[in-house]
Amino acid sequence: MNALLKSASCGGLRLENAGQEVTLAGWAHRRRDHGGLIFIDLRDSDGVVQVVFHPDEAPDAFAEAERFRAEWVVSIAGVVRERPEGTANPNLPTGEIEVAAAAATTLNPAKTPPFDVSQDGPVDELLRMRYRYLDLRRPFMRDNLRLRHRAVKFIRDYLEERGFIEIETPILIKSTPEGARDYLVPSRIHPGSFYALPQSPQQLKQLLMVAGADRYFQIARCFRDEDPRADRLPEFTQLDLEMAFVDREDVIGLMTDLYVSLIQTLRPDKRVPLPVPRFTHAEAMARFGSDKPDTRFGLEIADFSEIAAASAFQVFASAVKDGGVARGFAAPGLASLPRRQIDDLVERAKQHGARGLVTIALDEAAGSLNALTLDHVRTPARALSLDEIKAVAAACGASPGDLILIVAGAEAQTAAALGQLRLHIGERLGLADPDTIALCVISDFPLFEWNARENRWDSVHHPFTAPFDDHWERLADDPGGVLSNAYDLAANGYELAGGSIRIHERAKQEAVFRTLGHSPENTQAQFGHLLEAFEYGAPPHGGFAGGIDRLVTALADKADSIRDAIAFPKTQIGVDPLFGAPSPIDQAQLDELGIALLSRSGEQEEP
Ligand code: ASP
Repeated sequence: MNALLKSASCGGLRLENAGQEVTLAGWAHRRRDHGGLIFIDLRDSDGVVQVVFHPDEAPDAFAEAERFRAEWVVSIAGVVRERPEGTANPNLPTGEIEVAAAAATTLNPAKTPPFDVSQDGPVDELLRMRYRYLDLRRPFMRDNLRLRHRAVKFIRDYLEERGFIEIETPILIKSTPEGARDYLVPSRIHPGSFYALPQSPQQLKQLLMVAGADRYFQIARCFRDEDPRADRLPEFTQLDLEMAFVDREDVIGLMTDLYVSLIQTLRPDKRVPLPVPRFTHAEAMARFGSDKPDTRFGLEIADFSEIAAASAFQVFASAVKDGGVARGFAAPGLASLPRRQIDDLVERAKQHGARGLVTIALDEAAGSLNALTLDHVRTPARALSLDEIKAVAAACGASPGDLILIVAGAEAQTAAALGQLRLHIGERLGLADPDTIALCVISDFPLFEWNARENRWDSVHHPFTAPFDDHWERLADDPGGVLSNAYDLAANGYELAGGSIRIHERAKQEAVFRTLGHSPENTQAQFGHLLEAFEYGAPPHGGFAGGIDRLVTALADKADSIRDAIAFPKTQIGVDPLFGAPSPIDQAQLDELGIALLSRSGEQEEP
C-alpha cells in the first residue's frame, strides 16, 4: 500500500480499528449533507466506509469535501471512531465505525457518470458495456469478478492437489474443424495462409497425453465464430482437462467431485442434493425432455404410447403407428386455466417443434381419479374414452384439479417440446428452489446425429469421442445406433461441463472420420498431425471441459447473463462497444497482409 496516499483500506476498517489515524484513498461513492455535516461514503476495492466532515473541527477538509461529487477520486486523513449510539449500520461491514476527517485532498475530479455507480439497479446493457470501467465499479460486478477469481483459484488448487499441472497451449493454431466456425488470422509472413483461433484446446490436450503429461488442465480461452445465440459468446473461458490411463468413471468421478466441492466451498448457503443423480441420455430425454434437465422439481414426463396406440383418438393412434410416441405430464392445480392460456401453451408447444398439444383438464370436484366421470373432464380430444383418460392420469400421477399436457409425434420433437413446456410450467408454478444447485450427470449419448440438411452424419460432441467398446462394429451399418463414451454435467437446466473418453488409435479415428464423410485426403490434411501422433504410443485418455463464465453466472447472486460474469464481454452480436471492435483497418495493414476486400455485392472495391 502506498503510505502517502493510503495507509488502510476503506472496506477493511472495523470496530477494532477505532482510535487509529488512517489515510484513505478511493472514490466518493455517495454524499449526504446532513445537520451541518458532510458525510461521504468513500469506496475502494474492498468496500465503503463513512467519512464525516465537521466544519469547525476541520474547516479546510470540510471546504474541500464541499467540492466532492460522485466518483471523484479523493484522499482523506482522519481518525477511526465508533459511530454515535443508534447510528450503526448493520448492513455494512464497516457499519459500526466512521472516519472523522482531519484533511482531504482531491486526487482527480470526475465527470458525472452516465449511470449511478453506487447502485446495482438496472441500466441499459449497451451503456454499461460502453462504460464498462464504470460498470465494474458497481458493487455486484465487483463481487462477480471476485467470485470468478475465487472459482478459478479453487479449481487450480483442487487440481494441483490431485497431481494435475496447468499447461498453456497456443492461441494461433491451424484451422481444425470441431463443429463450429473458426476465427481466422491472416499470416503476414506467409501470405495467403491463415492461423485459426482454437475452438478449444481439444487436439492439443490429446497431444499432451501422447506427450506423457498424464494430468493436464488449463483455464483456456476458446473462440467460436457462431451466429448469435442467447448465452453464447464468440470468446469464452473453459476449464479444460485431460487425463491418461482412465476410464469414464474416473473422469466422471473427478468432474463431479470438483464441481460439488467448488459449489460447497464458494456457496455454502446453497443446497446441493447428493449423491448427484445420473441419467442416460435416452432416460433424460424421456423423463425431462432435455439432455440438461432441471431436476429441482418433478413434473416428470410419462409415456402414454401404449394407451395412445389402442385409442380411437386418431391423432394419438396414428402418431404411434408412424413410429412416434405420445407423452406428457401433469401440471398440478392448473385444471381451470382459461382457454386463452391453454392456447398459449399450444402455441409454445408448436414453437418448440410439436405438431400440437392436447390438454386434459380434470375438474377438482371429482375428488379422486376413481370418482372421475366425463363430466369432470375438459379436453378437445373428445374421442378419448374415460378409461383412457384415467389410464393417462394414472401414468403421469395426475389428480383432479390438474391439467395434463400431451404431445404425440416423432420422439425427438415430442421430447423437446415437452421439455420446454415442463420448464415453462415449472417456472410458472415457482417450483424450482433458487437456493438449490441440482447437479446431474448425463451419459450414453449417441455418437452421431443425422444432419438432414447436409445429408450426412455429424458428431454429437466432437469427432475425437470414443464409442462404447462394443459398438465399434455398428459404425458402418448403424451409425445412428452407436452410443458414445461421452458425459455431461448439468445443473438447474444448463450444461456445466462435458467430455468423453477419446479414441487413441489411428485406425479407429480414421473409421470415425470416414463415417462423418471425410475423404482420406481431407482427413490427412486436417488431422494428419493427430493421427500420426496416435502411432507413437498414445495412451488411453479422456477428459472434459467446463465453461467458467457460465459457472460463475450460476454461482453469483446477481448475474442476469454470462456477460455479468466477464470483465469485458462482447455483446451477443460480437461487438465490443467500449473499444468499438470489430473495426475497419487501414489499407496499409490490409496491403501488408496481402488482403483485398470485396464489396458487399462481391465486387472488388476500387483501389
Ligand atoms: N473440447 C470439448 C469442448 O470444448 C470438451 C471435451 O471434450 O473435453 O466442448
